[in-house]
Amino acid sequence: MSINKPSRVAILGSTGSIGRSALDVLSHLTEAFELALISGHERLDELREQCVRHEPKLAVVTGPRTSAVDAWLAGSSLDSQRQHGMSCVIDAIREGEIDIVVAAIVGIAGLESSLAAAQTGKRLALANKESLVVAGELLMEAAKRSGAELIPVDSEHSAIFQSIHAGRSHREIHRLILTASGGPLRDWPIESLADATVDDALAHPTWNMGRKITVDSATMMNKALEVIEAKWLFQINPEQIEVVIHPQSIIHSMVEFCDGSVIAQLSPPDMRLPIQYALTYPERMNSPARKMDWSQAYQLDWKPVDPERYPALGLGFEVARRGGTCGAVLNAANEVAVELFLQGKIRLTEIATVCRSVLAHHDFSPSPTLDELMRLDQWSRNEVSRWIKVTC
Ligand code: NAD
Ligand code: MG
Repeated sequence: MSINKPSRVAILGSTGSIGRSALDVLSHLTEAFELALISGHERLDELREQCVRHEPKLAVVTGPRTSAVDAWLAGSSLDSQRQHGMSCVIDAIREGEIDIVVAAIVGIAGLESSLAAAQTGKRLALANKESLVVAGELLMEAAKRSGAELIPVDSEHSAIFQSIHAGRSHREIHRLILTASGGPLRDWPIESLADATVDDALAHPTWNMGRKITVDSATMMNKALEVIEAKWLFQINPEQIEVVIHPQSIIHSMVEFCDGSVIAQLSPPDMRLPIQYALTYPERMNSPARKMDWSQAYQLDWKPVDPERYPALGLGFEVARRGGTCGAVLNAANEVAVELFLQGKIRLTEIATVCRSVLAHHDFSPSPTLDELMRLDQWSRNEVSRWIKVTC
């Protein structure tokens, strides 16, 4: 990547937590990057404000076409060009006016655009871990064929990416150690977890994130998805992945090499750092991200994960081992179950239970096509709804 000519960046999901942080990063790096495209699914006021403040060439609303969207499309022509529909995002990626795609859409909704970026040889700064969970094999193959660079934004995977880069070759990796905060309920008695409210689950101690990933963090489904993400990104055997609870979220993850040496990446919890690194790699540039204050005493703790408290994590390892259609089924079941929890229809602890049940009786295939994955995604969503009707 040349830093002389500005790289053209698309931020998909610019109205979300990662999207807003990505815009902040870009606003500090205007010589190296220009904003080609932003997209949001709803919150048109925020999208409008982003157009005015950041002046992207193109702004796309991907949510349903409503009268509010019509009014937005007909709005002032003083700021960015406005369009509607995910197909406009995909066309823009395919047309070649974009160099880097920041994939910050939540859920499987981000898969099509991640695949388009990988197929067309873009740099894919990947926050949307669900793309790899559902279709890791297809996404990695597409990137390999086109020469697309897939750079992780997820803080743990960015830490591993940085640690491997600073260390030695892939062959010398003994283990990847993913750190987990343990979420907001990590100190609750296990028997109380079933009574956790939506507010309890959303009160994350160290990270300020979107609702879905925050609930995933409370159940540790987030780490389960990250185990699968790590398997694909680093082409590593799941047996070589460990998860430890690290409550301070300062060590973002570690790589243990075959001689026993461990290389870690540390920084305060601030997503602007991994987002920026995915943009500037292999360069490093000054960043707006918070820095460590070395004049303060810090304590860095870690402890093993209690599988009884976090049954979702075991599902992640199981899915990483089995591969095939399992990722699509787990991801879809979890997306629906999290939404049902947020609507107050199921308990937090039922998320892992329903995911396990749906996974256990799905029609497994080891090397599915994209169509098969999409069919199983829909099947899994229907199964969760059926499960709820039977059990609730
Ligand atoms: P968020 O809910 O804050 O934002 C999601 C964005 O996606 C919004 O812009 C929304 O408009 C858009 N969106 C929602 N549904 C859509 C759809 N159907 N089609 C197109 N766009 C849609 O989520 P977030 O916390 O920013 O997370 C985004 C992704 O990044 C997730 O995959 C998450 O796992 C990953 N991630 C987030 C963090 C974090 O700190 N927030 C850290 C690591 C990874
Ligand atoms: Mg993470």
